[in-house]
Amino acid sequence: MRILIADDDLVSRRLLERTLVSQGHEVTAVGDGLAAIAALLAPDAPKLAILDWMMPGATGLEVCRQIRTRPAPYVYVLLLTARGRREDVVTGLDAGADDFLTKPFDALELRARLRPGERIVDLQEGLIRAQEDLRELAIHDSLTGLWNRGMVLDQLGRELNRSRREGRALAVAIADLDHFKKVNDTLGHSAGDTVLREAAGRMRTAIRDCDFIGRYGGEEFLLVLPGCDGITGLAVAERVRSRMAGDPVRAGEALLPVTMSIGLAFTQASCVGPDALVQAADEALYRAKAAGRNRVAEPVSVEGAATEVTSGERAPRKEEP
Ligand SMILES: [Mg+2]
Repeated sequence: MRILIADDDLVSRRLLERTLVSQGHEVTAVGDGLAAIAALLAPDAPKLAILDWMMPGATGLEVCRQIRTRPAPYVYVLLLTARGRREDVVTGLDAGADDFLTKPFDALELRARLRPGERIVDLQEGLIRAQEDLRELAIHDSLTGLWNRGMVLDQLGRELNRSRREGRALAVAIADLDHFKKVNDTLGHSAGDTVLREAAGRMRTAIRDCDFIGRYGGEEFLLVLPGCDGITGLAVAERVRSRMAGDPVRAGEALLPVTMSIGLAFTQASCVGPDALVQAADEALYRAKAAGRNRVAEPVSVEGAATEVTSGERAPRKEEP
């Protein structure tokens, strides 16, 4: 365990350090209270501290009070003192110390008094990990590892605001796997899951670093393409489509040709909300399906109140990277 020791007495500090190292700990040693405060408030600081009561700069009590003003992470503090009077113990506990060690210390007692501290530090680390896992679960789709629907819609809102501020275009694409129900019905849900995961992986490699992709529904994915108008958005969407159609997907014994249809909408107007964009992309997706699938529909420009559909020839495809 990583432990901070603060003691102005060099001999006592060295002895403590040597004892802790021999017990398997990793030690940072400082000689005054201010250095102790700085070390304990630093990012990734040790979560266990042994503080001398009397030190220049700041006393052990003052160090305790300082670090207790910060809610997390918790630092377990052993106060090192020659004092053993009851009122001193009360003062130390009031300042936020967890336990005491009297000088001169005994190595076995030191080990015993550190044990509750190690338990608390381990417990805290477990809780932090669990909290991070929960956060991951709350924003990701567990099957594909992509953002989930709520998260990608949040991201769309944020990117739309940013595009407004910067006066840039933004495109949204909805990609839907063609005839996906057939995969589930004929080969089972496990094959269906394999196809979804593979589709997610391929789409991820086909988009740009600045793009966002989330699982929007069963076999539907939402792509947020910052800075894209109809032409550049179409290039990204077309790359996604061709990456999917390029090679068949292996699901168990079967080798399945999998394609997707994509609807694309973009805007440059400041008054367009996320719902209008998604709806326009959804309607475009419907047209791509109706026109025979495995295609990107003509991009739709969403211009606030009046919706104008761009016409004319398809933009040329960008080269595959
Ligand atoms: Mg001292």
